[in-house]
Amino acid sequence: MSDLAAYAAHSEKTRGRRHFEPVPSGRSDFERDRDRIIHSTAFRRLEYKTQVFVNHEGDLFRTRLTHSLEVAQIGRTIARNLQLNEVLVEAIALAHDLGHTPFGHAGQDELNACMKDHGGFEHNLQSLRVVDLLEERYADFDGLNLCFETREGILKHCSVPNASALGEVGERFLQNRRPSLEAQVANLADEIAYNNHDVDDGLRSGLITLEQLSGVSLFSRHLAMAREHHPQLEGRRLIHETVRRMINTLVLDLVAQSASNIQAAMPGSLDDVRKTDPLIAFSPPVAAEQRALKHFLRQHLYRHYLVERMSLKTRRIVRELFVAFFEQPSLLAPQYQIKAKEDKARTIADYIAGMTDRYAYREYRRLFSIEEM
Ligand code: MG
Repeated sequence: MSDLAAYAAHSEKTRGRRHFEPVPSGRSDFERDRDRIIHSTAFRRLEYKTQVFVNHEGDLFRTRLTHSLEVAQIGRTIARNLQLNEVLVEAIALAHDLGHTPFGHAGQDELNACMKDHGGFEHNLQSLRVVDLLEERYADFDGLNLCFETREGILKHCSVPNASALGEVGERFLQNRRPSLEAQVANLADEIAYNNHDVDDGLRSGLITLEQLSGVSLFSRHLAMAREHHPQLEGRRLIHETVRRMINTLVLDLVAQSASNIQAAMPGSLDDVRKTDPLIAFSPPVAAEQRALKHFLRQHLYRHYLVERMSLKTRRIVRELFVAFFEQPSLLAPQYQIKAKEDKARTIADYIAGMTDRYAYREYRRLFSIEEM
């Protein structure tokens, strides 16, 4: 791939895989990583996992699968404009949420609380655990045996004790080094994707309104633009015309600011990138607007009383499943009972984290409902 910049991650210069495998034919190492992620079980489960809304609440809301596809699309556009490795960004984007529990943040917080005395639960770390250990597809190794650069990108953040236990991929958290620009792009593409689709889903659900959003400049100035171009437009189409303009502004701003950061820092290689401050960034005014939108969503959507009510229920499902299995591992399917002999709490956390929303709900009824035998 000769159109890649010197500061990009070049797949032929990968630090390699934990278990040696020859370079694939017909595709690059990063392409193989992306393909393995798409074929994984955890990837398919993303279809029935949610972020803000629970899966059965409606067919039109984003799931973690469609979210991951949006992150990949946004990330690839940014990467192409900065002469970065599109395939690596795509692989990281498609894998970044693989470790998420059912029921979005409520599920993750509750599982973390359940695991308080057993090493905790971080969804980021869990995504790495899925690709390093939990997928069972290959004869020669556990996990997907991905390249270092893909794993580094998946591990967005991580606590110091966890970083020390992770070896090579955790080192940057101890040495205060940055990941590749591709990882930085995937991270910000994630933000662009969820801020925008949460506005869209939030409006669709009726939990937030156009009136409330009129105080958020990133939204209101793009709404004004859409209205100027299409004075008659209203309803869903007006919202879509607004959201697509917001995404476009954020992507173009990120590309322009990052290009100028790169030009100023002049990294000559991926190793230079690792030693430099983060280079992928929004311009200060757009960063401020983006933060204001995030703040708005936290106040008005993620803490909406109807979301809080659903969170209460879903947290209870996670907690009660965990407690039941922990107190009585014989309730687990045989393959988990074997693993639980080594590390009971972690095995149960892995099992629960792997559940989709509807599977967790079904499992809960199977265990606790007398109507369900
Ligand atoms: Mg995400």
